[in-house]
Amino acid sequence: MAGVSEIETLRAEALEAVRAAASKTDLENISVRYIGRKGIITSILKRLKELPLDQRKTVGAAANRLKAELEGEIKAAGDKFKISRIEASIDPTLPGIARRIGAVHPIIQAMDQMCRSFQRMGFTLVPGPDIETDYYNFEALNFPPDHPARDMQDTFYIEGDNLVLRTHTTPVQARMLESCKPPMKVITAGKCYRNEEISTRAYCVFHQVDGFLVDVGVTMADLKAVLVAFCRDFFGEGLKLRLRPSYFPFTEPSAEVDISCFLCRGKGCQLCKYTGWLEILGSGMIDPNVLEMAGHDPEKYTGYAFGIGVERIAMLKHGINDIRLFYENDIRFIRQFR
Ligand SMILES: [Zn+2]
Repeated sequence: MAGVSEIETLRAEALEAVRAAASKTDLENISVRYIGRKGIITSILKRLKELPLDQRKTVGAAANRLKAELEGEIKAAGDKFKISRIEASIDPTLPGIARRIGAVHPIIQAMDQMCRSFQRMGFTLVPGPDIETDYYNFEALNFPPDHPARDMQDTFYIEGDNLVLRTHTTPVQARMLESCKPPMKVITAGKCYRNEEISTRAYCVFHQVDGFLVDVGVTMADLKAVLVAFCRDFFGEGLKLRLRPSYFPFTEPSAEVDISCFLCRGKGCQLCKYTGWLEILGSGMIDPNVLEMAGHDPEKYTGYAFGIGVERIAMLKHGINDIRLFYENDIRFIRQFR
């Protein structure tokens, strides 16, 4: 039968075993060996009555102390091997689930980039309705009812109400001119609709970015400066800009704006049809009639306006040869612009 000194030896041995344990199973075995139902310490306690009375108390106390200590040590050591429920439910060897992440449509990307460029130059972005009155879409922009220029734009009319699906984003200019006082520096962007034959170059829906500025003493030079700054920002440095005379009912004079081809740098290639130039937008000085109709004195105020076809620019920029690709929602096409 063990005495106090044997219990001390047992203690050193048991504690060393706990320290050396490498797994939960090791600890369970130690627990069984020393303090289990048939464990060494348990049996010492069971056989205390075999000892002489004077030893019972000291041996019993020592054995109980060791039992308690060992229980504590085993529990503390066990915490090291505990894994959380979340860890237990993760199998890092399983193959993952590929998540398909969406992306912004290339047209919206181009439109946002254009808007940000003008916003950095101090233009305020103003939205407008897709369904527009005949007045703002045409009349306020110097297209009287019998004006031949109305034939330039194949319009979707909404029966009976004198409403149209806007054929350009310029009606926002007419609305702003009517409701605000100069100086005004506004940009607008969104969908436009024309009843056109669908082809590689034309679609019934397209997007425009439209801007204008009205103040005292605004000239064509101001227009050119803002367009040069935009082209530099959007297409990069080193491209030339060219203004060609054109016609729009709401500007006088009007100009189509070309940039030197960014692919061949003006030498001539398939993209620019060997001209070295790419047509990118329409612009001009706001027609005095438009200012007058909105209640501004054209003797005092002048302004410029420009409109950019977003699809056209995106097609040039990405070398896309069919406008319909933007609207067919073919993932293989769209995915390329992530
Ligand atoms: Zn070229």
